[in-house]
Amino acid sequence: MEKVQLLIIGSGPAGYTAAIYAARAGVKPVLYQGIQPGGQLTITTEVENYPGYADGVQGPEMMVHFEKQATRMGADIRYGIVTKVDFNASPFKVEIDEEFWIETESVIISTGASAKWLGLESEQRLNGFGVSACAVCDGFFFKGKEVAIVGAGDTAAEEALYLSKLCTTVHMIVRKGEMRASKVMQDRVLRTENIKMYWNSETDEVLGENKVSGVRIKNNQTNEKVEVPVSGFFVAIGHKPNSDIFKGFLEMDEAGYIITTPGTSKTNIEGVFAAGDVQDKIYRQAVTAAGSGCMAALDAERYLSAKH
Ligand SMILES: Cc1cc2nc3c(=O)[nH]c(=O)nc-3n(C[C@H](O)[C@H](O)[C@H](O)COP(=O)(O)OP(=O)(O)OC[C@H]3O[C@@H](n4cnc5c(N)ncnc54)[C@H](O)[C@@H]3O)c2cc1C
Repeated sequence: MEKVQLLIIGSGPAGYTAAIYAARAGVKPVLYQGIQPGGQLTITTEVENYPGYADGVQGPEMMVHFEKQATRMGADIRYGIVTKVDFNASPFKVEIDEEFWIETESVIISTGASAKWLGLESEQRLNGFGVSACAVCDGFFFKGKEVAIVGAGDTAAEEALYLSKLCTTVHMIVRKGEMRASKVMQDRVLRTENIKMYWNSETDEVLGENKVSGVRIKNNQTNEKVEVPVSGFFVAIGHKPNSDIFKGFLEMDEAGYIITTPGTSKTNIEGVFAAGDVQDKIYRQAVTAAGSGCMAALDAERYLSAKH
């Protein structure tokens, strides 16, 4: 069985940053890219808020830069999916592609989180062309325009408020007659004049050929449908962290986010660290993922040097 010092799982901003730092510290990390080499940013177009790119950058191009930098530093980047782990004892065992196992002294988990979608064909077709699951990432592109948002939790409320500062009107579609969000967030939303609520309502269709031009909203009590012209359509119905394979070993919250000791990347198992969206349900940005990848590499490097 192959033995390594540090195995990094995932190739988004968190994983690659961890690889850059670990490689430069002489740890010789092995990184498995998973099903989406480059992570979530490979499915977006322009990224305008990652520092260092004064003119913005295409998401896929930026992730190629991350990978090149990690490779140049000496990280061993590999295709492959981690299909099972055994964290019962150190050294830890990790199964790749259901085919073989690797033994590793430490692990950095940076497997990200995936946005939940409504499942409409139009939503999928127009994803990246007006459909988005991240107001902080894409809201700016709709400055001075009308947008719609679906969701009823705290995140949806926060995103609606964020959008209300940029957009002329935010049409908020809520399935029930009330929101799930905390009372204080609901009050803030309801007090905001340019957020228009659609209670007991669902998205019937996102409208537009090549880019979003509107949304058809259906009242689920009366079956009445209205078409509202919007340029952006935001889905804020939650995220699912990619943490299923670690269940039973690592402490997680009810949604499946890995719990780390505040201010560190340490999980409940010594030698296993977590970085990026898989442990962050609040910020979920490329720069915060990269920052926590750096923390995880430094934590892993210190753990390994204390052991040897
Ligand atoms: C459409 C879209 C646009 C966005 N725009 C912006 C933006 O403009 N600015 C911004 O800051 N943020 C943006 N974000 C958010 C940003 O992409 C994420 O916050 C960031 O990518 C999180 O990085 P990560 O490294 O934690 O995980 P991810 O980027 O999600 O990467 C996870 C990685 O883990 C791998 N993986 C998962 N499971 C396994 C496994 N079992 N074995 C091996 N590998 C595995 C995947 O293949 C992937 O490589 C956007 C997100 C989306 C979806």
